[in-house]
Amino acid sequence: MEEKAPVKKVYKKMPRKKLCVFCQEKVEAIDYKDVNRLKKFITEGGKILPRRMSGTCAAHQRILATAIKRARITALLPFKGE
Ligand SMILES: [Zn+2]
Repeated sequence: MEEKAPVKKVYKKMPRKKLCVFCQEKVEAIDYKDVNRLKKFITEGGKILPRRMSGTCAAHQRILATAIKRARITALLPFKGE
């Protein structure tokens, strides 16, 4: 009896595109004071979630990054996890 070679799991591309939440809501500007919203786009360590994970489009990811950075400066968000 021959042993089968281990089957490598191939991760296919997601069948459906994840729509950017900001596009769905037609948000053009993200308020850096809106901490509760921004918190959803940072990791526990306080890093900005990559687009692949958050599903945010390039344009909004940019706006989001700016908002998060601004929130950090104003001490609304941590620079690093506590
Ligand atoms: Zn978008």
